[in-house]
Amino acid sequence: MDAGLFGGTFNPIHNGHLGIIQYVKEHYALDTIILYPSALPPHKSNVDLASAQDRMSMVEGAVEHLNGFQVSDIELKRQGPSFTIDTISQFKTLLGGDTCFYLLLGSDAFFDTPSWKQARQIFQALPVIVMQRGERTGMAPFASFIDEHVSKGYKLKHDNIFIHDRLFPIRICNVPRIDISSTQIRNRIKSGQSISGLVPEYVETFIRTKDLYK
Ligand code: ATP
Repeated sequence: MDAGLFGGTFNPIHNGHLGIIQYVKEHYALDTIILYPSALPPHKSNVDLASAQDRMSMVEGAVEHLNGFQVSDIELKRQGPSFTIDTISQFKTLLGGDTCFYLLLGSDAFFDTPSWKQARQIFQALPVIVMQRGERTGMAPFASFIDEHVSKGYKLKHDNIFIHDRLFPIRICNVPRIDISSTQIRNRIKSGQSISGLVPEYVETFIRTKDLYK
């Protein structure tokens, strides 16, 4: 089975997240994508952070009616900050066997990986799918970043795949461009603007009912 792993703060989950993962699932014929909210994102401030339970509930509600998506509380159950390398090992131990894992990262997260715990080991542990976010830049920034921060020896093949003799491939995926961020949603709520169309209806109602991000 091919399973995508998609972590995030999901504060809140939005239609950008949902649009890109539906595209990736179809494009790479993944059997499932597992979304896992982070408990304590090591790189983000906790200002305006909804509780782990609320973020989890919003993610569950957002994918409930979509086929082939699961939600895991794997990072919420662990003590301390959520490090991706630990999460990957845990998923492998839990589901291992014949599951082939792919790590899904937005390009901003990908370019941030040098500040992550044991970042290079992530690329030794599983193939990565990078979902382009914002302005399309072509492959040059990815090529130089990979060479400098992941490993020497990657070669760019057709279909935007960087391959290596000993390491897992890194695929750069030209997902539909959806310029939505959780920050934008929180800011809109603060300033009394509508978030309709930016998040699924379930999430909009959840936020309103619980009076989040005011
Ligand atoms: P915030 O604005 O609070 O920083 P965010 O919108 O970036 O949040 P996260 O939950 O931090 O959302 O994102 C989880 C993952 O989804 C990250 O890998 C991020 O790069 C990716 N991502 C989020 N929104 C988009 C988008 N619109 N297009 C492509 N990737 C995205």
